[in-house]
Amino acid sequence: MSKLKESDSEIYELIQAEKHRQQEGLEMIPSENFTSPAVLEALGSVLTNKYSEGYPGARYYGGNEFIDQVENLARERAKALFQVAHANVQPYSGSPANLAIYFALLNPGDKVLGQSLTMGGHLTHGYKLNFSGKFYQAATYGVDSKTHLLNYEEIRKIALAEKPKMLICGASAYPRIIDFQKFREIADEVNAYLLADISHITGLIIAGEHPSPVPYADIVMTTTHKTLRGPRGAIILLPKVEDRFHDLYHPTSKRNLAELIDAAIIPGLQGGPHNHQTAAIAVALKEADAPEFKIYGRQIVLNAKALSETLSAQGLDLITGGTDNHLLLIDLTNLGLSGKQAETLLDSVGITVNKNLIPFDRRKPLDPSGIRLGTPALTTRGFKTDAMREIGLLIARVLKNPNDSATHIEVKERVRSLTKTHPLFYKSSN
Ligand SMILES: *Cc1c(COP(=O)(O)O)cnc(C)c1O
Repeated sequence: MSKLKESDSEIYELIQAEKHRQQEGLEMIPSENFTSPAVLEALGSVLTNKYSEGYPGARYYGGNEFIDQVENLARERAKALFQVAHANVQPYSGSPANLAIYFALLNPGDKVLGQSLTMGGHLTHGYKLNFSGKFYQAATYGVDSKTHLLNYEEIRKIALAEKPKMLICGASAYPRIIDFQKFREIADEVNAYLLADISHITGLIIAGEHPSPVPYADIVMTTTHKTLRGPRGAIILLPKVEDRFHDLYHPTSKRNLAELIDAAIIPGLQGGPHNHQTAAIAVALKEADAPEFKIYGRQIVLNAKALSETLSAQGLDLITGGTDNHLLLIDLTNLGLSGKQAETLLDSVGITVNKNLIPFDRRKPLDPSGIRLGTPALTTRGFKTDAMREIGLLIARVLKNPNDSATHIEVKERVRSLTKTHPLFYKSSN
C-alpha cells in the first residue's frame, strides 16, 4: 500500500490499525470472516472505474466487453454452485437484495411473514423501523417459548391467520437447522412466495453441513461476505425461472420471475453495478467450489460444537442447549452480566463477540441479556477443535471473573499467543 501511504497517511494508518486489530484478536462475530488475498486483489482492481448499467449483452454504456465476461462468470459460477436456474449477482449487499425481492414480487402494503428481529430474524424480514415494516404489512413468528426452537405448527397457524403474500425463512441468530421443506408446505397452504434468506449459512449449505433451500424456495438470497467468505455483496438465486404463483400474483405481467427480479435491481433500485465487487464474488465462488471449502464448512460446525460443549460444561446457558451450525447464542442472566458488559469484557482481552437479544428477552436491544458468537472467521485462520475448547475456557474464565484484572491480563496474553500461531490468510492446504 505504498501509494496510499504516500498520498493519504491518515487513511493508511487507520487501515494498518484495523489490520492489526484483526490479526491480534479472536474474531468471533458469526457474520464476519476473512477473505482470501485473491478476493481482496479483485476488490481493489480497476474494475471499480467502469459503468455498466444493465446486464451482460444489454448495457447502457460502451466498453463493457470484459465486464460482461466478469459478470457472466460470476452468474454461471453461482448457478452451478447452488444448482439454480438464475442468479443475479448485482445487489450491493444483503439488505438491498431483500428490498429488490420485495420490490419485484409485492406491492406496497402487501403482507409478509418473517422471523421476528427479537427472536433471531433480520431487520429486513419485517422490522417496524425497516423498509420491510414501513412499506409492507409485516407479521412475525418467533421461536417456541420453552425450547427456543422454530415451532412449525405455530408458524403454520400464524400463516393461516395472516395469509402473507411472501413467507420469509432464514435468520441472523438461530443456532439450529432450519427445515425449509416445512416452510414450503406452509407457504403452499397459503399460496405465498417462499423466500429463503441463507445469508448466515450459505457456506455451510455449500459444504453440505446444512440442508439447502433450493428444492423448496421460490427465491433464495445470500450475502457473499459471511460464511461464503467473499467480499461484501449479495446474490439473488432462483431455483426455477417459472413462477408457481405467477398467474395468481402477476396475472397481467408477461415477465417471469427472473425478469421481475432483474428489473427490480435495475432500473428498479440500483444504477451501475459494482464490477470490482462482482469480480471478487466470482473469485469467492470459485474458492467455494473447491474441495477444501467442504472441509472448511465441516470444520466451522465441528468448532462450534466443541465451543458449545466447553461453554455448557462451564455452566454457561446456551440457547437451545447447543448448536447445529456456526453460531451460539448465550443467555448471561445466570452470571449476573448483561450482553453489553460481556461484550466489553471480552473485547478487553481481545475476543470480539456481539451482544444480542435472546428469545423473550426482558432487556433492551442496546443492552440485551445475551451474546452471539461464532466460528467462521477463526476457522478460516486454521483454528481446530482443541483450540476452540481452550478459547471456550478462556471466555468462561473472563465472564465468571468480571472484576479480576489479573485473570484478564493472563487471558489476554494467551489470546495474543493463539493469534500468533494462527496467522491470517491461513490456507487449509498448508
Ligand atoms: C446479514 C444479513 C442480511 C443483510 O446483509 P447486509 O449485507 O448487512 O445488508 C440479510 N439477511 C440476513 C438473514 C442476514 O443475516
